[in-house]
Amino acid sequence: MRTETRLLHTLPHDPLTGAVSVPIHQTSTFEQEAPGVNKGFDYSRTNNPTRQAFEQLLAELEGGIRGIAFSSGLAAVDAVLKLLSTGDEIIAVDDIYGGTYRALHTIYNRLGITVKHVDTSDPGNVLEAITPKTKLVWLETPTNPTLKVSDIRAIASITQAAGALLLVDNTFCSPVAQQPLKLGADLVLHSITKYIAGHSDVIGGGIVVKDPELGERIKYIQNATGAVLGPQDSWLAIRGAQTLHLRYERISANAQRVAEFLLGHPDVAGVNYPGLRAHPNHLVARSQSSAFGGVISFWLKDDREEAAVELVKQTRLFTLAESLGGVKSLVCVPGCMTHASVPREARLAAGINLSLVRISIGLEHADDLVEDLAQALAQVSESFTVQVPA
Ligand SMILES: *Cc1c(COP(=O)(O)O)cnc(C)c1O
Repeated sequence: MRTETRLLHTLPHDPLTGAVSVPIHQTSTFEQEAPGVNKGFDYSRTNNPTRQAFEQLLAELEGGIRGIAFSSGLAAVDAVLKLLSTGDEIIAVDDIYGGTYRALHTIYNRLGITVKHVDTSDPGNVLEAITPKTKLVWLETPTNPTLKVSDIRAIASITQAAGALLLVDNTFCSPVAQQPLKLGADLVLHSITKYIAGHSDVIGGGIVVKDPELGERIKYIQNATGAVLGPQDSWLAIRGAQTLHLRYERISANAQRVAEFLLGHPDVAGVNYPGLRAHPNHLVARSQSSAFGGVISFWLKDDREEAAVELVKQTRLFTLAESLGGVKSLVCVPGCMTHASVPREARLAAGINLSLVRISIGLEHADDLVEDLAQALAQVSESFTVQVPA
């Protein structure tokens, strides 16, 4: 069976009623026939049938053996970091998601876990930085917001030799396009909030593993600390995941169109999108993923700080908002929005200045998206022509 078919037929119909849609088991506790004798569920922090159905789907999507669903992407991040102990080291991609950066640098470093950030788009940098204390290598590929691509296979061979775990935050690619476990990663992490749920209506996170023992350790941490996905949100995540293939393919096609338009625009200084031949790691991206998603970032030629801020005020179809991966297109200025929690120096070193704009492409018609960006860019260049004396 092909992935699309398997995805839709992974979850059995409800054995009790035949319901085709997974029931929302809105219950905290479950009746026991005798102390400790139950139907596989005793308390919803530990296990809930709706969440379990979503977890099965998530594992299936990523080609893993176990999925674990969390109350947010960052709750999933937090659970992985709790695998570590004082004295352990992490090597992480340099332009890591802002929230993960904050957890690493304001909470886990206080507990004696150190992080080295390297440019993982060159695997040689990982090889150079890895030590016997390195327990975890943390990748995002592509990264947020500059869409850097790292070679998962090459880095997996480094972590395997060093006895460290490799985690890939696969939020941007989605399992439709890239399945890191098959490329050698040990853990895959998702902000379910983004492509998997896909409709900007739920916050959730997930981890998928291929090793049962590692799955047990993560499950233990979740049950011991409590950040579970609720039954309603699990149902929304299932509903979204069932159309992930269709959405991701259309979004990727739209994004390719928009990226090519931006690349040819005279007011645009540079475009980051792995689907462009001009992307420095386009060939690596093609070797490990079958589509390139909906996130594009670009620098305006006009590098005055107001230019990007002005642009995002002029778009009509692109809503000014944080987040990504939904059905409607969004736009933001990472430097003062999503990445504001990253220190200025680190931000600028990663190219995240205030002329960088990030867009998340949705399911609108590609022509409408291109027209909207064209009019917004025209308005920005006009307003600057007026303001700047010749
Ligand atoms: C959004 C996001 C997260 C955090 O997920 P939340 O659901 O917002 O907690 C982690 N990693 C990446 C790459 C993200 O885009």
